[in-house]
Amino acid sequence: MAQKPLRLLACGDVEGKFDALFSRVRAIQKKSGNFDLLLCVGNFFGSTPDAEWEEYKTGIKKAPIQTYVLGANNQETVKYFQDVDGCELAENITYLGRKGVFTGSSGLQIVYLSGTESLNEPVPGYSFSPKDVSSLRTMLCSTPQFKGVDILLTSPWPKYVGNFGNSSGEVDTKKCGSALISSLATGLKPRYHFAALEKTYYERLPYRNHIVLQENAQHATRFIALANVGNPEKKKYLYAFSIVPMKLMDAAELVKQPPDVTENPYRKSGKETFTEKQTPAPEEESACQFFFDVNEKQGRKRSSIGRDSKSSPHPKQPRKPPQPPGPCWFCLASPEVEKHLVVNIGTHCYLALAKGGLSDDHVLILPIGHYQSVVELSAEVVEEVEKYKATLRRFFRSRGKRCVLFERNYKSHHLQLQVIPVPLSSCATDDIKDAFITQAQEQQIELLEIPEHSDIKQIAQPGAAYFYVELDTGEKLFHRIKKNFPLQFGREVLASEAILNIPDKSDWRKCQISKEEEETLARRFRKDFEPFDFTVDDD
Ligand SMILES: [Zn+2]
Repeated sequence: MAQKPLRLLACGDVEGKFDALFSRVRAIQKKSGNFDLLLCVGNFFGSTPDAEWEEYKTGIKKAPIQTYVLGANNQETVKYFQDVDGCELAENITYLGRKGVFTGSSGLQIVYLSGTESLNEPVPGYSFSPKDVSSLRTMLCSTPQFKGVDILLTSPWPKYVGNFGNSSGEVDTKKCGSALISSLATGLKPRYHFAALEKTYYERLPYRNHIVLQENAQHATRFIALANVGNPEKKKYLYAFSIVPMKLMDAAELVKQPPDVTENPYRKSGKETFTEKQTPAPEEESACQFFFDVNEKQGRKRSSIGRDSKSSPHPKQPRKPPQPPGPCWFCLASPEVEKHLVVNIGTHCYLALAKGGLSDDHVLILPIGHYQSVVELSAEVVEEVEKYKATLRRFFRSRGKRCVLFERNYKSHHLQLQVIPVPLSSCATDDIKDAFITQAQEQQIELLEIPEHSDIKQIAQPGAAYFYVELDTGEKLFHRIKKNFPLQFGREVLASEAILNIPDKSDWRKCQISKEEEETLARRFRKDFEPFDFTVDDD
């Protein structure tokens, strides 16, 4: 299956010249057809108050293309970026957030890091710290199957990017830029890395991400720095390119080396030993601090960690589940919990019948301790959640049903994974998927398809609001909640004619039954589930 490449635009510092930028984008689109996204690095806002922005903010003017921007690089513009997790700034203009990964519906992976480097605590609101960089690296690079990312967006240049490359003009890359970004680029292996802030255009020759003769070929990285919008010297500030997400590419095609590929600028050439300096202290500023070793790091990770425990620093230590800040309906230890609905208890999680469920066997997977979302779970809890999911799939399959699962991390306090069985005879998985996509479109909810087995953690940061639905194939549809998400969305879609065809049940309050009836259903579920119960012979 040939994948149609995405057509993207990247832009340097806009500095408040929105009209100039967007009229340029309109002209380009008129001439050569529409683009899918515009990615802005560097200073999106100018330091002086401007009337132009008001017109976009209030909707008088509108960006002609979905535009994603990085956050502030100085104190004066911090005020524009209220939500550190990213938010919509104006129609079609979205702030990505301080740091994270954005995965488009196409599967394109974009990693972003806002602000300038700061090695001093406390880190100002317009900066990133060594911790931010190492957490991004850990989050992304620690899986054995990690190959790289499609795009990396940073505002500052990476330090030393000019090493082994073509001339970077008036910019001395040994003196300017951020060594932390060099470290990030070394670990992430982006296919494209965009940066700005230096008021100049520099397209470096592509560089290798592997050591020749020592490692298997990997894809090359293209670093492109862009100038500021409307600069009088007419330096390039807008860069157009086409890209097929790497996850959809043939491995051989992906690692094809461009003829002008150079050595990796961030690695010592010709030596086998590299020292990882992921968090350089300011006094360590020296010529060799930019040598980062990715390979050694991955090797170490793989060998020392048996199970997937990347999110938990002390996986072996038994610990008390987190306590809620106030009364909670779902903490198993809390007096508020409706114990009669609990149908199975594991080590870290439990199952309960949903109150006012869509069907008699609509259950919830809940952590025993107080966690707000899947993103916050430690590795051992995630493991048990997965075990429950797999078991429930088998259980429902044996009863002629497939599972649809969803989570809404918005206006909720305790994680609830809703598991709704849908009779195999009523519709196919694709029908369920289509129903979600269509009904989301109708309500202007952008649902992104995310790859099977990919972790919500890689997409949403702790604290960020989101909704996702997981189909029985493991496919997920993800929505990053900006504002006003319909709380009953998942339920409404499932209750609709396309799936369960019980539209009158879309409101759970109308499905409430007496406590006696709930007890009867729970008793029946416990009995039916017994042959599948993995918690009994576990310890
Ligand atoms: Zn709780």
